Amino acid sequence: MSEDCIFCKIVAGELPSKQFHQDDLVTAFQDISEQAPLHVLIVPNQHFKDVGEMGDAQAEILGRIAQVAGQLATQEGVASNGWRLVTNVGRDGGQEVFHTHFHLLGGRPLGPLLAR
Ligand code: AMP
Ligand code: ZN
Repeated sequence: MSEDCIFCKIVAGELPSKQFHQDDLVTAFQDISEQAPLHVLIVPNQHFKDVGEMGDAQAEILGRIAQVAGQLATQEGVASNGWRLVTNVGRDGGQEVFHTHFHLLGGRPLGPLLAR
């Protein structure tokens, strides 16, 4: 638990969220400012500032995030049309909350990821 981290507080249930999933390793909850009909954040329960800080020792956590993303996509009805899983790192990546999180997006055509 990192003091003053909003995602640590959401994981701990100290801040409200619409929760989609929680297990021993990860928590999934709705993004407060949805960019798509389905916009869920999947986070490790443990605090890491970004995915670049996670390595071999966190392989199980990263695997669980991918697995939960697929399960939620199916559960929420976007699996057949497709979805996106993306994580931002640092200033140029557009990261605003410094607790690793993966955006699960779906429910509309998401367009090209990269502006050319
Ligand atoms: P990023 O720019 O990748 O760091 O994304 C941070 C995301 O966290 C944004 O999409 C915000 O809308 C979302 N966010 C910020 N505060 C909350 C909160 N209290 N509950 C849910 N999502 C949040
Ligand atoms: Zn945190």
